[in-house]
Amino acid sequence: MKYVTEYRDAALVKGVIEEIRRTVTRPWTLMEICGGQTHAIVRHGIDQLLPPQIELVHGPGCPVCVTPLELIDKALSIAARPDVIFCSYGDMLRVPGSSRDLFSVKAQGGDVRVVYSPLDAVTLAEKNPDKQVVFFAIGFETTAPPNVMSVLQAQRLGLKNFSVLVSHVRVPPAMSAILNSPHNRVQGFLLAGHVNAIMGYWEYPPLLEKFKIPMVVTGFEPLDIVQGILKTVQLLEEGKVEVANAYQRAVTFEGLKPAQAAIHKVFMECDRKWRGIGMIPMSGWCLRPEFEEFNAEIRFDVESIHAEESPLCIAGEILQGLKKPHHCSAFGKQCTPENPLGATMVSSEGACAAYYKYGRNPQVLLAEK
Ligand code: SF4
Repeated sequence: MKYVTEYRDAALVKGVIEEIRRTVTRPWTLMEICGGQTHAIVRHGIDQLLPPQIELVHGPGCPVCVTPLELIDKALSIAARPDVIFCSYGDMLRVPGSSRDLFSVKAQGGDVRVVYSPLDAVTLAEKNPDKQVVFFAIGFETTAPPNVMSVLQAQRLGLKNFSVLVSHVRVPPAMSAILNSPHNRVQGFLLAGHVNAIMGYWEYPPLLEKFKIPMVVTGFEPLDIVQGILKTVQLLEEGKVEVANAYQRAVTFEGLKPAQAAIHKVFMECDRKWRGIGMIPMSGWCLRPEFEEFNAEIRFDVESIHAEESPLCIAGEILQGLKKPHHCSAFGKQCTPENPLGATMVSSEGACAAYYKYGRNPQVLLAEK
C-alpha cells in the first residue's frame, strides 16, 4: 500500500538506526508525545533497536488515558438516564470510572452506542426527537474538527436534543507542564504528527524560546519514527534548538487553517484536568458561551461530580516520562488489560497496554540487562 509499505521497510529502518548509532556520542532522553507513536515504538521493538545512549520516554498523548476520572463518572451518570442515548468512540467503553465503566451501564440497560463519527450522533438526535443524544467529545487537537462540526451541524438543524460532553486537551500546554517540572528528564520531543497535520507547528517556537530544547514533527510508521529520532539526535548533538519537520508528507507549518477556524468558532481555551497528572492551566478546549446550550455537563447538571484516582496507579508519572509501566507494582498483577486499574492499561494507545501486549514485563527487562 503506497505511503505505508515503504515506511515499514525493515532495511530502510535499520539503515536509519545505523545512522543514529553513528551520530550519537552521549546519552539523550527523548519523549514521543503521542500514544500512537508509543504503541508503534513498542510493537516494532524500535526502543530495543536503538543504541543504548537513546532512552525513549512515553508522553501524555493518549486521549483515552488522560480523560479525567471525574469526566468518566459524569459520562456514566448521564448514560444511565432512561431518556438518554449516549454515544462514544468504542475505546471509551472499557475505561474504568470510580466504580464501573460504560459497558456496565450498557449491560444494565443504558442506551450506550458506539459511533464512528460525531455526525452519526447528530443523525441519531434527528431520528430520535423524544430522546436526549449525548456525544462524548474527547481527544486532542486531532479529533476537535469533527467534534466541533457536530455542534455546528446540530445548531444548523435547530436540534434541542443534542449535546456534547467535552474533554478536549491540547499538546503545547502539556509539554510546558512537563518541561516546567523540577523532575523533568526530557531533552528532545518527537511531536505528534497528526496533531500537527491539523494545527501546523506555529505554536511551538515560543516553547522553543522558553525551554531551549529541540522538537521534531514525527509520523507514526517505523521509518517515520526513526527519522524523527535521527533528526532530534542530530539537533541535540549539534547543539541546535529548532522545530524541524520529519513528517513533511502530512504536515505544513500553518496546518489546516479552515479546521483551526472551525475549532476556534466553537471552542475556547480553558484550564483542564488530566487523568493522573492534574490540572494544567489553559490546556483544554471548552465550549464558548454562545454554544453553552450544547454543553451536556450543564444540561444534565453533573458539573459537581468529583472523583479520586487509585493510589496504586502511577500513570501520571508514566505520562510525564518520569517512570515506565514496569515500575508500577500493579503492572501485570492487579492491573491487566482484562482488569485495568488505570486508563493507560485500557487504551490500545496506552503505554501500560503496549508494554503488556508486547512483553515488556519486568522479568524480560531484567533478563535483558
Ligand atoms: S500498570 Fe495499571 S495501575 Fe500501574 S500505572 Fe499502568 S494503568 Fe496504572
